[in-house]
Amino acid sequence: MTVLSDNLKKVRQGIAKAAKANGRAADAVKLIAVSKGKPPEDVRAAMKAGQDVFGENRVQEAKSKFQPLRVLHPPLELHLIGPLQTNKVEDAVKTFDVIQTLDRPALAEALVRAMKKTGKAPKIYIQVNSGHEPQKSGIDPDELPMFLKFCHETCGLTIEGIMCIPPQSDDPKKHFKFIKKIADEHQLKHISMGMSADYEAAIECGATEVRVGSAIFGKRD
Ligand SMILES: *Cc1c(COP(=O)(O)O)cnc(C)c1O
Repeated sequence: MTVLSDNLKKVRQGIAKAAKANGRAADAVKLIAVSKGKPPEDVRAAMKAGQDVFGENRVQEAKSKFQPLRVLHPPLELHLIGPLQTNKVEDAVKTFDVIQTLDRPALAEALVRAMKKTGKAPKIYIQVNSGHEPQKSGIDPDELPMFLKFCHETCGLTIEGIMCIPPQSDDPKKHFKFIKKIADEHQLKHISMGMSADYEAAIECGATEVRVGSAIFGKRD
């Protein structure tokens, strides 16, 4: 067994165990393999080991890496998990099946325009800055109700999920519980939280999707 397929297996076992502890089936939690900074060969190896869902945080990198891979592997589901600039929105809606990082009104408007123009309709999640960190993207939790209303009523954009990256300095569980609570309040079905270091804790708190990079692909440069 290769290191990569062994890593994948361990992460899948960790997910199954945490899901069970939370009273859920292992397949109730989606594993997003974060392949940013990694070559296409690594992605192909993961695909061979049964992985269909991947995450990238740059539009250009994802586009050049995954366009050929999509042809080779049609079950591919690609998630954007990094900040999105308004001028890259058209490429983003063409490249990704899910965009997890909507965080401002101008981007919501640009997404709607790009979706109309291209005929593509990726699922959209809102990124929430649960730690109120000034340098981090994501909408402030206090602004979420207003922003959801804007997306739904003004833009006609359906929001299907919520995503967060807790502050490094804090206990992540506090943030995961908070995000689960606001997701339920607003009936946001997909809850994307947890990375290599804390995906088990995120699942215990209700994550439906975890974004795991280095635990699968090894350290990034
Ligand atoms: C890189 C990244 C991950 C994966 O991080 P690891 O610690 O390598 O698992 C998850 N989410 C986001 C938003 C990222 O940028």
